[in-house]
Amino acid sequence: MKKDTLLTHLGRSTGADPVTVNVPLHRASTVLFDSVAQQHDLQRRLDRDEDASTYGLFNLPQVRALEDAVAAIEGGHRALTFPSGLAAVAGAILAVYKTGDHVLMPDSVYHPTRHLAGGFLARFGVSTSFYDPLIGAGIADLLTPRTAAVYCESPGSHTFEVQDLPAIAAAAHAQGAKVILDNAWATGYFHNGFDLGADLVVQPATKYYGGHSDVLIGLVVANETSWPALKATAYDLGQRASPDDCFLTLRGMRTLGVRLQRHQASALALATWLEARPEVARVYYPPLPSDPGHALWKRDFSGAGGLFGVELKPVAKERVASMLDGYTHFKLGYSWGGFESLVIQAHLERSVVPLPAGALVRFQIGLEDPADLLADLEAGFARLAGA
Ligand SMILES: *Cc1c(COP(=O)(O)O)cnc(C)c1O
Repeated sequence: MKKDTLLTHLGRSTGADPVTVNVPLHRASTVLFDSVAQQHDLQRRLDRDEDASTYGLFNLPQVRALEDAVAAIEGGHRALTFPSGLAAVAGAILAVYKTGDHVLMPDSVYHPTRHLAGGFLARFGVSTSFYDPLIGAGIADLLTPRTAAVYCESPGSHTFEVQDLPAIAAAAHAQGAKVILDNAWATGYFHNGFDLGADLVVQPATKYYGGHSDVLIGLVVANETSWPALKATAYDLGQRASPDDCFLTLRGMRTLGVRLQRHQASALALATWLEARPEVARVYYPPLPSDPGHALWKRDFSGAGGLFGVELKPVAKERVASMLDGYTHFKLGYSWGGFESLVIQAHLERSVVPLPAGALVRFQIGLEDPADLLADLEAGFARLAGA
């Protein structure tokens, strides 16, 4: 089945009474057993990874339906839900590293992930080195015997560097290290992390899978070898998204394909227009032929998310604020991936690669008519010029 067919086919009801299209919503802590024998049977089946539930933390129907659907779209073996994308990042990391280990993290990593490494992981004796996200096969020089995994995020947050995942994975696997990929921007719909060498894929489903800015949820998808560690860690930590949030995410997922196609088309049109503006120093968007990551993006992705960065030529920061404050459609806010357009100015932290010289503004291109968005951007440049 093609991805668009999978998005409608996966996570459907398999014959409740009455027969409905969608999986019935169970809110539950306690699961009731018919008998002691059934309790033991269900426990055995859960331990063997079969579709059995013994308690509200494990395999409730709505949760399991989403996990299996996302695992299939991302191309992995099994998935587990987490209460946010960041919780999923932490879940993947805690499944892989132990005290004394070493994390390799791209310098353009999502900032809260960087914070997790410098704070929480350091407290538990796990050290972190940041690497140039464009390092590719050169990662081999940074791997140590204690590097349990190389963490990747492609493209990177705010600066959108496309990573050479197959080269990184080949070097990591040659030394017995795993690869974790944060696949928020393209999702498995446009970017199959497992085919490219990832062992664990983090999917902040708050963004495109949910798609409606009304749910916080994340998933970690594992290949077969990494699945037991992921399951043990998530179960020990008691991590799981609520059935209601899984319901919303499954509902959002049905339109993931059509939304992404529209986000991509509008974003490419606006990014192309922005690139030609005299106020703009550079647009960070891999689908643009001028982007340094364009060739890798074409090789490894079948499409793009609708999120990009715009670096302005030097200008007073009050002018940038007045440009951002006055937009009609581009609301100021964190997160992205919903139906609506958003904008935020980046405040970057980098350890090994230089910061962009000008102010860097991130645009999430929503599902509005692109002509309205373009007019909004144009009026913003008038404010930037002091009009
Ligand atoms: C938003 C985001 C996350 C975290 O997702 P939340 O659900 O907001 O916690 C993780 N990684 C990346 C790249 C993100 O953009």
